[in-house]
Amino acid sequence: LEVEVALPAVKDQTFTYYSPNSIQPGVRVKVPFAFQGKKVGVVLSCVQDQVPDTRPYKLKSVLNVLEQEPSFSPAQLKLARWLSTYYLHPIGDVFKTMLPATQSKTRTVRYKLMERPQPDADPYRLNSLFNRKSDLTKLQLEKKLAALGLTSDESKGLIKKLLKSKILAEEIDRDTRTRTKSKQDSTSSVSRESIAEPARPLTPSQQQAYDFIATRFGAAETHPSKPILLHGVTGSGKTEVFMHLLSKLFSLDESSQALILVPEISLTPQMTRIFCDRFPGVVAVVHSAMPDHERWSELQRIRNGTAKILIGPRSAVFAGFAKLGLMIIDEEHDSSYKQGNGLLYHARDVAVMRAKIESCPIVLGSATPSMETWYNSKSKKYDFVAMATRVTNRPLPEITTVTATPASRSLHRLYQSNTDSSPNPSDPQQSSLFSEEIIAALKENLDRGQQSIVLLNRRGFAYYLFRLSERKAAQCPRCSISLAVHGRKRTLKCHYCDYHTSIESITDGTSPSDWALVGFGSQRGEEELQARIPQARIARLDSDTVADPQELPRVLNAFKDQKIDILVGTQILAKGHDFPNVTLICILEVDQLLSMPDFRGGERTFQLLVQAAGRSGRGQLTGKVMVQSLRTDHPIVQDALKQDFHAFADAELKFRQQMGYPPFGKMALIEYGSDHEADLCAWDDQLETLLDNLLTSFTDLMSHIKILGPTPAPIEMIRGRHRRNLIILTPHRSLTHQLTQKIAALFAEAKPTISFKIDIDPQSIL
Ligand code: ADP
Ligand code: ZN
Repeated sequence: LEVEVALPAVKDQTFTYYSPNSIQPGVRVKVPFAFQGKKVGVVLSCVQDQVPDTRPYKLKSVLNVLEQEPSFSPAQLKLARWLSTYYLHPIGDVFKTMLPATQSKTRTVRYKLMERPQPDADPYRLNSLFNRKSDLTKLQLEKKLAALGLTSDESKGLIKKLLKSKILAEEIDRDTRTRTKSKQDSTSSVSRESIAEPARPLTPSQQQAYDFIATRFGAAETHPSKPILLHGVTGSGKTEVFMHLLSKLFSLDESSQALILVPEISLTPQMTRIFCDRFPGVVAVVHSAMPDHERWSELQRIRNGTAKILIGPRSAVFAGFAKLGLMIIDEEHDSSYKQGNGLLYHARDVAVMRAKIESCPIVLGSATPSMETWYNSKSKKYDFVAMATRVTNRPLPEITTVTATPASRSLHRLYQSNTDSSPNPSDPQQSSLFSEEIIAALKENLDRGQQSIVLLNRRGFAYYLFRLSERKAAQCPRCSISLAVHGRKRTLKCHYCDYHTSIESITDGTSPSDWALVGFGSQRGEEELQARIPQARIARLDSDTVADPQELPRVLNAFKDQKIDILVGTQILAKGHDFPNVTLICILEVDQLLSMPDFRGGERTFQLLVQAAGRSGRGQLTGKVMVQSLRTDHPIVQDALKQDFHAFADAELKFRQQMGYPPFGKMALIEYGSDHEADLCAWDDQLETLLDNLLTSFTDLMSHIKILGPTPAPIEMIRGRHRRNLIILTPHRSLTHQLTQKIAALFAEAKPTISFKIDIDPQSIL
């Protein structure tokens, strides 16, 4: 028999091998490849030999069949082929993305830092390697050392040396056990008790949404239904509707299963708990901070049908199900559904395609749908159902604006001596982030015993360190981006690579009064607030905190238990959380978002404002939201104030249509770059000619085609790699694809020092 096999890390083609026995498609096999090499691939098809065999060479034989049961179902194989053609990605690599992390029970080796060296006596830079953590897995440590330029032999040698001198200690598997334990404490899928939490009766608006969706069950088998957009305002109780749908699904067919995609790990603990309590013992959970073997075993429970509900982030969309009966995409607008490297898929779009392939009902839920989904529902490609009122019948929170005075954005001078460079945030001479109105409102809320959230745009202390006489910010030497200021020690850090340095090393030999810190990060917000409202219990939550898997649940739980009065943080705080005692949300530095150099800047700002406001007044108490901005009259801010999604969406769609941007135009981004600027410039010239030639074959379609660029990417250099953007925009998906493919083929003529990647439907063009 002839077997067609997809292999990873080779060109976009499949390979044919010989096998005496039939092999089921979806099975992984080991095959010979190149000179004496071997590769593991996935069988796509298995057919009778060609008769007569006209090949000029003899087929090589499959070496090993690695499994009895196929890793991929026929539907998953179909999905893989679609992913490969849609995202213009080699099919072998598609499987690599789809396959859950290794199934082998590798033991995790961790290295613990026994004692933190003094910063001035730290020849191995352990402080920075370990950052806020006290231990790292072997893989993490090796990656960090590699980033510092050490070869793997050098890394091994160094680790050995550090172990020997007892600076590091080795621990095996311990973390896995503690994580399993903590997982059972908080989000256990292996439920502590098996008595299900009772379902709550639905409100009329929930009931009507539920009825609309539930009629789809069963019908799907005869004709695939359209995806359904559930547009429910914040606090309308979408989760309860989802749970009623699950009960209905299971009551119709006991063996049926459901997939629930959630945006980010920060959301999962809460969501997971609710689902586990309602459906004890049958919920499987995956998230990226999980050790591989745990993730594998959770996915195994879904594959073999012992678990019925899978909750997970974007990668869960690829999971193998015994019998998939319903897909739910919670917060479908969330940008974390887009994968950032390798196969640049968008989990929502993949889910919609998977639902189509599997004839499975799919629900997309959001209070602020993406323009893509909104347009699909307006143009009747998707069905639509709305929940316009909050469960508690509380009004949506009242939003007010506070105009930030430009003076409050003024510079924060490092006027102290070089040795004492820690600025004093409570110093009245210094700039202040918070307007007096906001401080007063926070104090008042505290006196009432209610909780508040303060939302800032960026993590860290300040956005950058600025030299007044040169009007220049301190930049990363490897990325064209200002260094952010972090931590009590005011370290300068690059957010794109691991470069970091001290303020002193940059200001050394200059006058300290020539330097200022600009911008307010979450850390600075926290410090200033603590200084101005010392009696409040304040904590911070941003991606720096999230980096520590223990810290995130600790802060969220403490806040839920009302042991924290004010939580300061970044956008993570705006997402999906449900804290009933939060009645005041302050959103600052909105202008930063509005001026983002990306056509989705407006959409992102509106989403953030409405989602953040939605965290307020969810319980019995009425909520309030204060937005501090320089441009309180901006139409997007105004629509958000009125929580008028329709007004915003109408204006936004009009703008997108005028510009031919998605969802009207179909966009692809080719990002290319090189460490060698000269090569890149030479290629740019060559590419221009090649593009001109290529476009002559499209003359009939020229009026439909927009090629923007090549331009230097907004962040022109990352890790020493110079970057260019080429944006392809046409009104038709097939035209965009065709053109992108042709342009990508041109890159075969570029020097090997030039690398590129294709991003279909890019979500960010930075
Ligand atoms: P959304 O995701 O739509 O913003 P949630 O699903 O978080 O809203 O629900 C908001 C709040 O209302 C939650 O605290 C939830 O427990 C509560 N809730 C939802 N449905 C009901 C119901 N039918 N009866 C009582 N409380 C409900
Ligand atoms: Zn950098």
